[in-house]
Amino acid sequence: MAAPLGDDVFGDDPSVNALQDQIAAMLGFEAALFMPTGTQSNLCAVLSHCQRGDEYIVGQFQHCYRWEGGGAAVFGSVQPQPLEHQPDGTLALEAIEAAIKPDDPHFARTRLLALENTLGGKVIPMAYLGEATALARRHGLSTHLDGARLFNAAVAVAQREGTTAQEAARRIAGHFDSVSVCFSKGLGTPAGSALCGSKELIARARRIRKMAGGAMRQAGVLAAAASYALDHHVERLAVDHELAARLAQGLAGLEGVQVEPPQTNIVFVDLTGAARDRGPALLEALKAEGVLATGLYRLRFATHLDVDEAGVDRAVAAFRRFFRN
Ligand SMILES: *Cc1c(COP(=O)(O)O)cnc(C)c1O
Repeated sequence: MAAPLGDDVFGDDPSVNALQDQIAAMLGFEAALFMPTGTQSNLCAVLSHCQRGDEYIVGQFQHCYRWEGGGAAVFGSVQPQPLEHQPDGTLALEAIEAAIKPDDPHFARTRLLALENTLGGKVIPMAYLGEATALARRHGLSTHLDGARLFNAAVAVAQREGTTAQEAARRIAGHFDSVSVCFSKGLGTPAGSALCGSKELIARARRIRKMAGGAMRQAGVLAAAASYALDHHVERLAVDHELAARLAQGLAGLEGVQVEPPQTNIVFVDLTGAARDRGPALLEALKAEGVLATGLYRLRFATHLDVDEAGVDRAVAAFRRFFRN
């Protein structure tokens, strides 16, 4: 609330500028741009990399294809080329290569490969990120990472490899020409994302952000919260991951309930057999007990800053009570 403010439309809000410098330095980029949402950040990224009539290669379940209202096509006339995910969340390298169109007037111009990490809570393997982005570069494509949950991936990688989350985040981001990060998910701020890239790319993104109505004036109050989250809420994502594992264990073992072991903070549950159609009723029953989950394709639970061990245990109890009745 006490953050020093200016007018970010003129680029002189000190708190916004400090945040942009902080996240760019953290992830090893020249520049960054504060965004109201992750959706707008991805939109500005795709439209900065691509022109009208270009195409981006993307996974079927990635946010910047499936979950953003088709914005890149609607606002940018940029055609998505969605590919199926493999079980580990990656896009097969052969499938990417096969989707890159020859330079021929029949085809849209393939310009960009967009990946996401984590994808539905799955950590995309570091070696794959290197291979996929190298393949893209060989074919003259730019690369964008939707890293809304980048720091969840980084914390998981750091734990596995015995490095710091900062180091892991930087390594993941280093494979890409641009990276978008959300402050409003696990990091726990009220609003905001950042797009990171070269100075040139960010200058283009700034123009598109303006057109999209995303240039906010006294935005420093939001940026200061994001800076606080970068300083204090990154390492603690490990707690969310432990609680997700606890939740998954608690939900498992019921007839007709399949629980996917989580890699980070998202737990997916599939209902089968006699339980198959009980999803909507389950969500209602959980909601009545103060437990919120979503169920667009699969039941999905997320742990975050505002969920503690007692909350997880209450969620497990409510879930099991529903299946007993
Ligand atoms: C939430 C999310 C976004 C979009 O963020 P909003 O701030 O909700 O627009 C983009 N990508 C991924 C992977 C996300 O989880």
